[in-house]
Amino acid sequence: MTKQSRDDLMQPLNGITYLASPPENEGEARSEWTHWLGLLDITSHDYPYISSLLQSAYDDWYDEMQAHPAAYRAVWFTADHRGELLDRRQGQPQNEQAAALKAVRDCLVRRDWVVSKTEGGYSIAVPVWTRRTRELIAVLGCSIANLTEDGIAGARAWTEMSALHFRTCFYKRFEDIFVTDMLRVNKQAKREEHRRRILFQVVQKLHTQIDVDSVLTEVFERIAGMYPAATVELLMSQDHLSRDPRVKSLQLQGDRDPMCVSAFMEGRMLRAEKRGADGECLEIAAPLVGKQGVYGVFHLLIPLGEIDEVDLQLIGMLADTAGSAFENAKLYEQSNLLVSELRLINELAQRLNQSLRPKEVFKFATDELLSIFKAEYCCISQIDKDGDFFEITASNVPSLSKENFPRDYGFSGLVFATREPIILSDYKAYGKITSRLMEDTGARSLIVAPLVVRGEVIGAIMLAHREERFFSYDNYKLLQVLSSHIGLAIANASLHAEVRRMANHDMLTELYARHYLDDRIQEHQKLDEGGSLIIVDIDLFKQVNDTYGHQAGDKILKQVCSIIKSTIRKTDIAARWGGEELAVYLPGADAKCGQQIAESIRYRVAMETEPQVTVSCGIAEWTRDGSEKISVESLFYLADMALYKAKKNGRNQTRIGLDA
Ligand code: GH3
Ligand code: MG
Ligand code: MG
Repeated sequence: MTKQSRDDLMQPLNGITYLASPPENEGEARSEWTHWLGLLDITSHDYPYISSLLQSAYDDWYDEMQAHPAAYRAVWFTADHRGELLDRRQGQPQNEQAAALKAVRDCLVRRDWVVSKTEGGYSIAVPVWTRRTRELIAVLGCSIANLTEDGIAGARAWTEMSALHFRTCFYKRFEDIFVTDMLRVNKQAKREEHRRRILFQVVQKLHTQIDVDSVLTEVFERIAGMYPAATVELLMSQDHLSRDPRVKSLQLQGDRDPMCVSAFMEGRMLRAEKRGADGECLEIAAPLVGKQGVYGVFHLLIPLGEIDEVDLQLIGMLADTAGSAFENAKLYEQSNLLVSELRLINELAQRLNQSLRPKEVFKFATDELLSIFKAEYCCISQIDKDGDFFEITASNVPSLSKENFPRDYGFSGLVFATREPIILSDYKAYGKITSRLMEDTGARSLIVAPLVVRGEVIGAIMLAHREERFFSYDNYKLLQVLSSHIGLAIANASLHAEVRRMANHDMLTELYARHYLDDRIQEHQKLDEGGSLIIVDIDLFKQVNDTYGHQAGDKILKQVCSIIKSTIRKTDIAARWGGEELAVYLPGADAKCGQQIAESIRYRVAMETEPQVTVSCGIAEWTRDGSEKISVESLFYLADMALYKAKKNGRNQTRIGLDA
């Protein structure tokens, strides 16, 4: 055996360092042991241990000596290889002890037998050697009174025989311990093998799992199988929804699980003895460590008697294995999630872009969000043009629909101010912000994401649920991604609506444009039974321009338009027909009704304009059952004719169609 490998095998057993390893197979066993016992190196061993071994050997030897009739009336003394007397039970007189010590010392110095004369006889001391290596292990001696010189040789031989017997007793004790140790080592090796087998099975099984929950369940089951009396729980650092009730969340703040928090922070296993409800137990916190970080901590309480050092190593290895298996499964889960997220985003973006009507986009986004996140409530808010308020533009909470709030109100207000998304696990416990959404619905969980378009926050999306801790961190991240697409779709639709509005409106008067009016009259003519058209023309407007200037003229034109708008119903359509000529179409109204409206416009213009102007109005009507079919053009023509008559007749008056 080389020095290196021999050193490797020098296992400390019961305080003794063996110079050779125990034999590996039965055949070699006996000869190896003998050899091995012969190699006992006294000097290198733990002195108190050797000393106690000698003491017990002495006890055995002494008991056996007592059983045999003594050949001499000797007083025995024994010392270890350092000269310390082992035998202290006989209470020898001082001088005899001194003589014994001297004999021992002389023997140790001479490393051979010594005989010295005492007061009444002789003291004989002989060395006790180890087998083979012949190391001086102890000194055995006796004082014999009345011994004559002739008897010395016989007494010495007898003492040497006793020393040999002593050595046998010593080796007997030593062998006992060795065999006990061997059995213990053997038992331990068997247990170790059992554990390794478990570990191997776990590793094999864990690495075939791609589902995070199965990984955790597997580890739980293994630990529960090995230590049935143990309490096991897993504290996860991130929110990890598990069907297993033993999986809980790790509270990094507060002092609920200080040991687990430390194990998590330090990334290493910690343990402490603890007095539990069922007696003394060992508390273990083993972190679930992967390559990318620490995911949680296994928290175990095992009764003290059921666990030893090797178990701890195994638990550590199990946690390590579980950590990397968990990480793999998590990564797999994440990549799956990412794929489905991308698919979802793609689908959502495609469908969002199918419509350019804001109302439809809002409705679609609300429905989709509710279904994707399984939320109960959804609110989409938009900041108004001036930025002082925000409006709930879409919501499945009827009490909030179309409501306006100050820009800094509630969670939307917070998102507008910080531009950061929010995840709230329990509104009730939070209590720092009042929210109409949460109050009206009794919701407790909330996620909010800003709607950002070209770097500007234009609104917010809020999703709520009555259950606390309903939304996961992944939900929160996904909403952020989706909100950017929804924001873009909303912005596109709004922009499109604005362009459409601009195309259909006259910029100066904010009335509809003529082409729009034409189209709408045509639509109405297809569906309605009749309707009337009023053409309003400002009297002598040229003069007004000449007198007050063109800008004042514009102002008056706007005044007249706003009088028209506030006089007619929502369903009536007012347009700028051209120049200072304005047209109002009244769906379903007859000429009489048209005249009433025209008259009130005329009256109000005369009363309210500043500088004062008057208007003349021409009215024309159409009915489905009329003798001729009236086209849009002829309707305008008739109204224009009536207007012409009103002008001709002195202005500031209304006229109806042809009959005027
Ligand atoms: P009346 O209709 O009573 O016969 O006289 P009038 O002076 O209003 O009629 P006319 O058709 O001769 O002149 C129309 C004037 O309206 C000419 C133009 O200066 C003015 N006008 C048309 N459009 C605008 C406009 O957008 N702003 C201003 N300030 N003036 C306009
Ligand atoms: Mg005019
Ligand atoms: Mg005119």
